[in-house]
Amino acid sequence: SDGRVINFGAGPSALPASVLEEAAKGLLNFNGTGIGIAEISHRSKEFTAFLAEVESLIRSQLDVPETHGILFTQGGGSAQFSAVVLNLLARHHLLNPDLPERDLDYVITGSWSKKAAEEARRLGGGRVNVVVDARASSKDGRTFDSIPAHASYSFTSPNPALIYYCENETVDGVEFSNDASSPASFPFHLLPQNTPLLPLVGDYSSSFMSRPIPRLADHAIIYAGAQKNIGPAGLTILIVRKDCLVDVDAAAKLGAAPVPLTMAYKTLADNSSVYNTPAVLPIYISGLVLRRSAEQGGVQYYEALNKRKADKLYAAIKEGEARGVFRAKVKEGSGSLMNVVFDVVGDGAEAKFISGAEALGMKAIKGHRSVGGIRVSLYNAVTEEQTDAIVAFMKSFLAQ
Ligand code: PMP
Repeated sequence: SDGRVINFGAGPSALPASVLEEAAKGLLNFNGTGIGIAEISHRSKEFTAFLAEVESLIRSQLDVPETHGILFTQGGGSAQFSAVVLNLLARHHLLNPDLPERDLDYVITGSWSKKAAEEARRLGGGRVNVVVDARASSKDGRTFDSIPAHASYSFTSPNPALIYYCENETVDGVEFSNDASSPASFPFHLLPQNTPLLPLVGDYSSSFMSRPIPRLADHAIIYAGAQKNIGPAGLTILIVRKDCLVDVDAAAKLGAAPVPLTMAYKTLADNSSVYNTPAVLPIYISGLVLRRSAEQGGVQYYEALNKRKADKLYAAIKEGEARGVFRAKVKEGSGSLMNVVFDVVGDGAEAKFISGAEALGMKAIKGHRSVGGIRVSLYNAVTEEQTDAIVAFMKSFLAQ
């Protein structure tokens, strides 16, 4: 064997071995150029063609309409916490030059959306409103353990500069449901109705390409770091509605904060994502992953597969809960298909669980340092057989 284990890490995370083998060849010789992918100019015709293919692989699999551009940048989800605020405040200044105050509306369902709201507060330039904070309806009033009921959202700003949500909370293991009839779906119907071009922002860092994106066309910005479902860290993918490609310098003259050019969506778009050197190698590996996912049936294929994988894991947690061995951390119906979190009950039981899994070649299941417990991430590259392996281990742990 090549010594590889099953990697349930939350990000960076598992990538398909077949892609890594192909990428290793490209590292030596990209596309017959005789130059490796980490060595070739980002302006070469071969890389330019590859980048265009990556864009079209995303566009076709997610059904991105022509109203939206697809952009590639760096800085991860964290840089986008800042960039969305700066770009959409600039847009808001251009559309509404004389407002005394600007609203930034945040839906807070977990650690990442909380962090995004904190960054917006740091940057200033608008009043941060909390549309809902899921902790208020949690079991203990402190943790993020569910997607709140629709009745608890208050979208009260008539003309916000942005409305932000995070589709999948990687740390806390809660995710909006893709089923519009589920109480855990995103309440699109409650959004302000008088704003035709909604400034809706979705952080899809840890669920991008794992299934279709509901109401994609209604979003202003969708962004995702590559390092969960599709590639190495270092690449951030943006889907940007074209009215959000604004002249940030014109906005600054009206009083908006200046926007660094590398963060301005218009700069990225005007330069086809190569204003400066992009993350060439991560784009390459992500492109290979996206080619493979297109061959397999795209996001519809992964949605069905990811649902089956997660269902198996949640069933095992439930079985363990009935026996007092495991404890679910997330309320039923709100559980993420990507990051499944639970506790192992009892003194020393968690350490025993982790070392037992490691002994069988299953790694990276320790929960995020801020919440503890176990987190098993089931991104696209984690196979159903690998999921079956951890489920079998959980069952054997119960039998001990
Ligand atoms: N948003 C979500 C949902 C995430 O999972 C992460 C990273 N785990 C981030 C934002 C931050 O991304 P990055 O580390 O790429 O800055």
